Amino acid sequence: MAKVKKKPEGGATPLMRQYYEIKRKYPDVVLLYRMGDFYETFDEDAKLTAEVLGITLTSRANGKASQVPLAGFPYHALDSYLYKYLDSGHRVAICEQVEDPKQAKGIVKREVVEVATPGSAMSEHFLSAKEANFLVALAPGEDDAYGLAFIDVSTGRFEAMEIQGGQLNSLMATLDPREILLAENDEVSQSLLKLDGTLFSRVEDWVYHHEFARNELLKKFNTRSLRGFGLEKLALATAAAGAILYYLQQYQGRELTHVTRIRSLSMADWMVLDNDTLRNLELFHSMSGRQRGTLIDCLDVTVSAAGGRLLREWMQKPLLKRDRIQARLDKVQRLLECDSERESIRELLKQCVDLERSLARLGTNRASARDLAGIRFTLEKLPELKTQIEQMEQETAVFSSEESSDLTSLAATIASRIVDEPPLSVKQGGMIRDGVDAELDEIRGIARNAKEWLTAFQKSERERLGIPSLKVGYNKVFGYYIEITHTHKDRVPEDYIRKQTLVNSERFITEELKEYEEKVLTAEERYTARELELFNALQQEVLAFSSAIQTQAAFLAQLDVLGCFAQLAHDRHYCRPDLDESLGLEIHNGRHPVIEQTLPIDEAFIPNDLVADALQDQILLITGPNMAGKSTYLRQAGLIVLMAQMGAYIPADSARIGIVDRIFTRVGASDNLTGGESTFMVEMNETANILNNATQRSLILLDEIGRGTSTYDGLAIAWALVEYLHGRTEQAARTLFATHYHELVSLEKVLDRVKNYTIAVREFDDQVIFLRKIIPGGADKSYGIHVAQMAGVPLPVIQRANEILQSLDSGEVAVRSDTIAETVPSLDMNQLSLFEKQEQILRQRLQEIDINHLTPMDAIRLVDELLKEIHGK
Ligand code: ADP
Ligand code: MG
Repeated sequence: MAKVKKKPEGGATPLMRQYYEIKRKYPDVVLLYRMGDFYETFDEDAKLTAEVLGITLTSRANGKASQVPLAGFPYHALDSYLYKYLDSGHRVAICEQVEDPKQAKGIVKREVVEVATPGSAMSEHFLSAKEANFLVALAPGEDDAYGLAFIDVSTGRFEAMEIQGGQLNSLMATLDPREILLAENDEVSQSLLKLDGTLFSRVEDWVYHHEFARNELLKKFNTRSLRGFGLEKLALATAAAGAILYYLQQYQGRELTHVTRIRSLSMADWMVLDNDTLRNLELFHSMSGRQRGTLIDCLDVTVSAAGGRLLREWMQKPLLKRDRIQARLDKVQRLLECDSERESIRELLKQCVDLERSLARLGTNRASARDLAGIRFTLEKLPELKTQIEQMEQETAVFSSEESSDLTSLAATIASRIVDEPPLSVKQGGMIRDGVDAELDEIRGIARNAKEWLTAFQKSERERLGIPSLKVGYNKVFGYYIEITHTHKDRVPEDYIRKQTLVNSERFITEELKEYEEKVLTAEERYTARELELFNALQQEVLAFSSAIQTQAAFLAQLDVLGCFAQLAHDRHYCRPDLDESLGLEIHNGRHPVIEQTLPIDEAFIPNDLVADALQDQILLITGPNMAGKSTYLRQAGLIVLMAQMGAYIPADSARIGIVDRIFTRVGASDNLTGGESTFMVEMNETANILNNATQRSLILLDEIGRGTSTYDGLAIAWALVEYLHGRTEQAARTLFATHYHELVSLEKVLDRVKNYTIAVREFDDQVIFLRKIIPGGADKSYGIHVAQMAGVPLPVIQRANEILQSLDSGEVAVRSDTIAETVPSLDMNQLSLFEKQEQILRQRLQEIDINHLTPMDAIRLVDELLKEIHGK
């Protein structure tokens, strides 16, 4: 207990001294200090508040000492303002008045009741319905090993695992945490993580000690060991998980009744998606940074929030085990076959509430009776859903009916106590049904029947005393009274207590009336309090079923995602992929799921085949002009594989996919200017990552590698890369390599497993028509100038470019002094002397000769041509 000093230190007012005392415990947290109907912030917090919330900064006199900056807002705005702090990456301590100001001697006692942080937020304002919100804890160990735990407080999902440092950033990219918890003296972890704008929070080092952390978990889950969670042998994961619990419970003061279990994960269970792949395949964010144009946006036709979250999770973790993928596909197939059941199921799911988040609100004391009513209505839907599933299962048994506890009686319990349409706030009353609780009924009866009671009382007193004019009334000063005129003075009984004398009458009260008054006046207050008690009791009863409800919730979410896959298959003619353990990849009439949906109605997407195999057709070298559809073809392959391993149907007519362990991508010329790295540096980083980590099971998509540097550097790098990927026979990964360097086509002749493909174009009237069809063979030229023409580059530039191109082909270029010549620096003639250039062209032309198709006449003509070229004619 803080002693109040007689003499304010430094002239600060007692109030401000109390403030600073509390603030000292929360130095890097915004302290919201409750003063009457306002939350106030001071000093630096006030400046930050003014900026973050966009409100005015004022100041407050702090005794003789000085003025302090001040910014505040009314208490009822807390929920809507809080998320703004969290959104901008700040933690907020909410400091309440914990005693009644009327009873307080001196300064009202205040305490921090909660610390809100981005990683543990619960507010609807802050969370998005279809996304998880993760708080991650990291525990570094020996040999670059890391324990990692993460929790989504808003749903109760709590998982832990151990990984190598090298995998850290990939995992972070998929988790996209809002907050990361580290030990006070852990200097290494933070520097290792490449994250923008994520909040780092710290706890004391000892929190991370294995023994302590383990005990936190045992206490929380009330078990003797962690074996049941698969964590007994994972000391680092345990440390991280325990630290999270400690942080949330002790530091933030969160009750987490709804967190009923922790799952241990292994990176080996799913396909790791690194940052580059997430970005290049535009899974969750498009290149333009918008949600539109992403795979998630394209595939999400789930009908519930939990379904939407699970779809994300499945997309973040494509499966690697064939039987697990097949199990999902079997269900999708059944849902696709049964149109009417699928529709009924989706309709039912649409009517369900978000069980996970409702339960989380109950578990953190933020629920309203509406959450209970919602849980009830949802649980009541379960039998109907079950019926629909049974109808689908008449011939099959794919929805293995896991033993799920019967929650019908829980639904009935809620239904019997909570009204169908309860109020928004638990403080208003009106949540509990009549007949649930005798005390509540009585209180309610009093409030409702006050008038009748008084009329009855008046009547009985009139009869008892024989005074027809006796009146029962009420005024603010005396409360209820009985009024008797002076005429009947002598009939006033002994038990009447005189209160007031008027001109014509006298007013009395009785013990009975006083008791009644007491009841009526406090009824309102007692009424809401009793309702809250009953609500809390029911809340506890429901929370006792947390685990069973969560199991149901997980089942519903799965059903939603599987239904989503089936619906997509139905609406967009997706097919079931065939997965096996081979190293092949065959797609018949594949389409790009996103582009297909975004093309104008009058433009059809042209489907394409793909045949690759790590042992035979390992590297598909795709040349072709700009805008032909190379990048689209590459991404399409990646997306189809990813979708198949999520357990979804795919945009193709058929496909056989040898399961892929990782998809590596280097697609398009991307910029990472925010990171301060040059485009080319980024490109080479990504390439290095691919070369160091790809296995025989991987799928590599390389698009325009080497574009970020000068032509010959780029060509050289691209060339070497293909050779290298081809040369690693043990780790030869299926590779799609799109390039505008048509010089690379000659590699097919020397490297067995390189196959040339191009995207067909038709030249027509000096125009290029893109056919978008992939065909064997290489492109003979790049059509860059055609594309420039189509894009509207002025004619003189086009003409001059054609001239330059022709002279380049003959090994000469005349640099003109006007601007046109200077507009073609990308040809980069400075890189090579004219002589070297000539030699290279010559070598290339020789390599391109197909002896089998050369007539003797042609051969002579060719030799003649080449000689002329050497002699510069
Ligand atoms: P490239 O990488 O060869 O320059 P892109 O793959 O970027 O070409 O494709 C250019 C555009 O062509 C895409 O934005 C898309 O709209 C369209 N496109 C690509 N492939 C197809 C296809 N198979 N069918 C229809 N349109 C396509
Ligand atoms: Mg491209």
